[in-house]
Amino acid sequence: MTISSFEHDILIVGAGLSGLRVAIELSEKFDVAILTKVHPLRSHSVAAQGGINASLGEDDSWESHAFDTVKGSDYLADQDVVEILAKEAPRAVIENERWGTAFSRTDDGKIAQRPFGGAAFPRTCYASDRTGHNLLHTTFEQTLKRGIKFYNEWFVTSLVKDGESICGLTALDIATGAVHGFAAKAVVLATGGFGRVYGHSTNALINTGDGCALALRAGAPLKDMEFIQFHPTCLFGSSILMTEGARGEGGHLINAEGKRFMDKYAPEKMELAPRDIVARAIRTEVLEGRGFEDEYVHLDLTHLGKEKIMERLPGIREICIHFAGVDPIDEPIPIQPAQHYSMGGIHTDKYGVTPVSGLFAVGENACMSVHGANRLGGNSLLETLVFGRVVGQTVAEYTASAKAPDSGYVGQSAFEMREYLQTLLFHEGGDSPASIRETMGQTMDVLVGVYRKSDALEAALKLIRELKDRFKNVSVGRSDDKFNYALIRTLELENMLELAEVITMGALMRRESRGAHWRLDYPDRDDDNFLKHSLFTKVDDFIKTEFIDVNLGMFEVKERTY
Ligand SMILES: Cc1cc2nc3c(=O)[nH]c(=O)nc-3n(C[C@H](O)[C@H](O)[C@H](O)COP(=O)(O)OP(=O)(O)OC[C@H]3O[C@@H](n4cnc5c(N)ncnc54)[C@H](O)[C@@H]3O)c2cc1C
Repeated sequence: MTISSFEHDILIVGAGLSGLRVAIELSEKFDVAILTKVHPLRSHSVAAQGGINASLGEDDSWESHAFDTVKGSDYLADQDVVEILAKEAPRAVIENERWGTAFSRTDDGKIAQRPFGGAAFPRTCYASDRTGHNLLHTTFEQTLKRGIKFYNEWFVTSLVKDGESICGLTALDIATGAVHGFAAKAVVLATGGFGRVYGHSTNALINTGDGCALALRAGAPLKDMEFIQFHPTCLFGSSILMTEGARGEGGHLINAEGKRFMDKYAPEKMELAPRDIVARAIRTEVLEGRGFEDEYVHLDLTHLGKEKIMERLPGIREICIHFAGVDPIDEPIPIQPAQHYSMGGIHTDKYGVTPVSGLFAVGENACMSVHGANRLGGNSLLETLVFGRVVGQTVAEYTASAKAPDSGYVGQSAFEMREYLQTLLFHEGGDSPASIRETMGQTMDVLVGVYRKSDALEAALKLIRELKDRFKNVSVGRSDDKFNYALIRTLELENMLELAEVITMGALMRRESRGAHWRLDYPDRDDDNFLKHSLFTKVDDFIKTEFIDVNLGMFEVKERTY
C-alpha cells in the first residue's frame, strides 16, 4: 500500500442521484470531485422502479402533497423541510425531463402519473417501471457534460478533522489497494441507505451505511435510526422489490383463503394504504395462519391483462419470470415484506448542514427529516433531486469563505488508516466476516423487524454487542492489494455493526408505535412523550442518546385513519 494526497475544494462521497445533483450545483464555481465505491451508474438509485412525486396535476397542489407526506410520516416529519420538498417537486421533475429523462406519457403528451400509497392524487411520475434507471443516466450525463472529476471504485474509509472542522478524508483505491488522503474545505456525504444491516432487504449489496458510520465516528449525530421501512411486496425468497406501482396499477393482495384482505386494515385506501400499514397487514395475515406455507401472500396482477402489464410493468414481469418462475400475466406473485428504506440517518437541518463544521449530508444517508416515521413511495427520488440542489447551494456558500484545508492532518490520517488496514489484512485465525454478517442479518430480521417488543430488542442488542466484540478478532481471509473485495466487505461489516447497535437502541428507547416502528408492548402512538426525534452521538466508545423537538406548524397533529 502506498500513500499520496489529493486536494479539491469540495469532496462528494457517493455518485447516486443525490451526490450527482449536488455536484452539478457546485461545478461551475468550484473544483468538485466525487468518490464512489462503484461506477456511478451502479449506484443504488438505478434500481428505483415506481416513480417520483410532484403535484403536476390540475387538481393537485403542493399543499396536498405536503399534507400527505406529513400524515404518512405519522407527524414526525419536520414540516418546514416537507414544505421545501413539495414546493420544489414540479421544478425538479421538469428540470430532469428537460435534461433528457424519458418519462411515460399520457395520450395528450403530458408526463403520466400513477397513484401511490398514502397519496390523495395520482402524483407519481414514472418512466415505465425503470424510473431510477432513467433519472440516474440523465443526471450522470449532465455531470459528464460539466467535466466533473470522478474517483470511481474508491472506498472512503474515514473523515479527517483539523480539531473541530472537517478538512478531508481518507480513501482506498480498490483497484490498487493504495490508501490516499484527500484534503478539502467541505465534504458532502451522499452514500445512500443501510438496508443490508438486515438479512432480507430490497437494497443492493452496496447499501451498507458507510456514510452514517463515518459521520458517527467523526462526532456527527445520527437521527431517528429506529425507523426502518419494510416494503410490503417483495418477491418471496429473494426479497426483490415488486414496485408499489404494481398496486398503483390495480394489483390486489390475496391471502391463502383466496380473499382480498386489506379491507380489514385500511377500508378506504385498501392496497394503497401507506407501506407500514400494508406490511403489518401481510405479517398479521401470515402470523394468524392465512399465509401460504406460513410465509407469504399473493400479489395478483392477472386481472390487469397482458397489454397493461407489458406496457407499465415489463421489468416486474421479467423479474418474476427469472427469479420466481412465475409469469404475472397468468399467475399471482408470491410476496412478503422485507427491509426497504432507512428513514433515519445523519442529523442535518433543512439545508443539509450537520453539527460538525464542514460536513454536509444529503439523500438517503441524511435525516433532514422529510419522511419522519414512514416514507411515502416516490418521495425519496424526489428528495435526492430537490435537496441535492439545496445542499449544493448551501455548500457553495460555506466553501466561498472557508479556510484552506491543512493537508498535514490528511496525510497523518491516511498513514494511520494504512496501518489499521494492514493489521486487519494480516490477522489470521480469527472470526470470518461472513459468519458475523449472517448472524447480524438474521438478528435484525427476527428481533428488530416489522413487529418489535422489549425482550426481543434487548436480546438483539446483546447479540449485536457480542458480534462487535467478535469483529475485533476478525480475519479478512485474503491479503492481496488489488481488488480485495474481502477487505471491502469487512470494512462494510464494521460500519453496519455500528448502525445495527444504534437502530436497536433507538427501537428500545422509543416506547410507542409510530409509522414503521411498531412495538407490540406499546401499541399506541404517544405524542405526549415521543413526538420527538431520537438522536445518537458517539462519545468515546459510548453512544449518547437524547430526544429533540419536531418542527411542526403547517398541519395539526391528528390520529391516523385509513
Ligand atoms: C429496489 C428499490 C426501489 C426503489 N424505488 C423507488 C421509487 O420508485 N421511488 C422513490 O422515490 N424511491 C425509490 N427507492 C428509494 C431510492 O431509490 C433511494 O432512496 C435513492 O435512490 C437513494 O439515492 P442516494 O443518492 O441517496 O444514494 P445511492 O443511489 O444509493 O448512491 C449511494 C452512492 O454512495 C456510494 N458509496 C457508498 N459508500 C461509499 C464509500 N464508503 N465510499 C465511496 N462511495 C460510497 C456508492 O458507490 C453510490 O454511488 C427505491 C429503493 C429500492 C431499494
